[in-house]
Amino acid sequence: MDDNQPKRVVVAIDGPAGAGKSTIARRLAQRLGFTYIDTGAMYRAVALWALRQGVRFDDLHRMEQLAMAAAIELAPGRIHLNGEDVSEAIRTPEVSSGASQIAVIPGVRRAMVGKQREIGERSSVVMEGRDIGTVVFPDSDLKIYLTADPVERARRRSDQVKASGAVDAVPVAESVVVAELARRDRFDSSRATSPLQIAEDAIVVDSTKMSVDEVVEEVLSHL
Ligand code: C5P
Repeated sequence: MDDNQPKRVVVAIDGPAGAGKSTIARRLAQRLGFTYIDTGAMYRAVALWALRQGVRFDDLHRMEQLAMAAAIELAPGRIHLNGEDVSEAIRTPEVSSGASQIAVIPGVRRAMVGKQREIGERSSVVMEGRDIGTVVFPDSDLKIYLTADPVERARRRSDQVKASGAVDAVPVAESVVVAELARRDRFDSSRATSPLQIAEDAIVVDSTKMSVDEVVEEVLSHL
């Protein structure tokens, strides 16, 4: 490494769906002047492409090919897939479920992790996902495992879907969202490759009763 280059910093935020990772990671990145990377959006973009191409989520070979070929560009709060802004299109329940199904495929993960490391090597980042502190950047400068009570997470996720403007963001009963999140958590935590788990050196933050500002300050206090 060139000694004249400023040290690049990686802040890893992992945790289950609806724990507030995106909100917190985006705010942290703003405060620190770092690049914000939503790795879940990358898995979602590949799942969306598969749906559009009619590729089955259990077709391991074709899914890996799609993941490798996907041109994914991230800008703050936006994501482009092969030149198209898909920021809203990736927020449907169908894509959420698809993302966690393709995220079990080792070849898909390899392709995503490669892209994520490339981005993290270019600049200081706040990167959020499920495996950032454990697999993507095990040497992160700060690892946060952000969690919250399941009912609170479901409430936040419903609000997020409503606010996303996704075309098929139909109102869904909270109990259905709770069940769907629980199903996805089970899936993400029990898969063989890079399951969602707490890194040994991660700081666990339970945001159930905390405001966004409180969580941001708490995380910053550890940097
Ligand atoms: O974070 P988000 O809910 O958008 O992620 C969608 C899905 O992508 C997750 O349920 C998980 O299966 C997968 N994912 C992953 N590893 C990451 C980020 C997301 O497996 N680093």
